[in-house]
Amino acid sequence: MKYITKYKSPNYNSRNNSKIKLVIIHYTALPNLNEAILFLTKKEKKVSSHYLISQDGEIYYLVNEKFRAWHAGQAFWQDNTDINSVSIGIELDYSPRGKNNKFSIKMMSSLKKLIIKIQKKYKITKKNILAHSDVAPYRKKDPGKYFPWESFLGSKIIFDSKNITKSKIRIIEEWFYKNNFTSKKKKIIFSLALIGYDIRNVYSNRKNYNKLIFAYKTRHMNHLDNKKSKSFYFILIQHLYNFLLTKN
Ligand SMILES: [Zn+2]
Repeated sequence: MKYITKYKSPNYNSRNNSKIKLVIIHYTALPNLNEAILFLTKKEKKVSSHYLISQDGEIYYLVNEKFRAWHAGQAFWQDNTDINSVSIGIELDYSPRGKNNKFSIKMMSSLKKLIIKIQKKYKITKKNILAHSDVAPYRKKDPGKYFPWESFLGSKIIFDSKNITKSKIRIIEEWFYKNNFTSKKKKIIFSLALIGYDIRNVYSNRKNYNKLIFAYKTRHMNHLDNKKSKSFYFILIQHLYNFLLTKN
């Protein structure tokens, strides 16, 4: 794989021996590649990512993988709050309001190749290829609702949360019943927590609850062809079932 190594970011520190377990996908929300490079390599900005992929699929290697790049900010996944130490950050030259508002074929093709390479190198499971909005649902929307997650399913990069029958859903529902999960909201929050989401401030805060649901939907529902026929709740329980019983 060919990288462009001419730009380097000074914005990193030590991982403190943490194992790399996650890949976090971002968009820059900047108007073009030049601005993205400037932003991610400028000391005063205090942000960076390991990789930046351009609209024509070129991969800029900005921070050595062995270091802790500063891309996730305040974040959370499966009880871990230092996401930068355990992840590799990939930025895409994309802005929802810019001329670069396409996840181009070349960009996506490079992204897939890069993820596959990282997955193999660090033995990262499919469940751990995440959106920035997964690990920071209260602050971040990237890579956004137009990011084509469905194109990843075919190449088996990400975990397929679908495809179980209704009878299996009953197993989860029976478990909820036996354990006194009386309200739907409680079941939803519990399921999202098991999958990995930060649920610490959702019970008392309606706004945060809605943000969390929005983050989940943009990540897991946009790609469903027949989304009208399946409710959010059904998709989530299906996801939970597969998540608990699938090794990868
Ligand atoms: Zn981001």
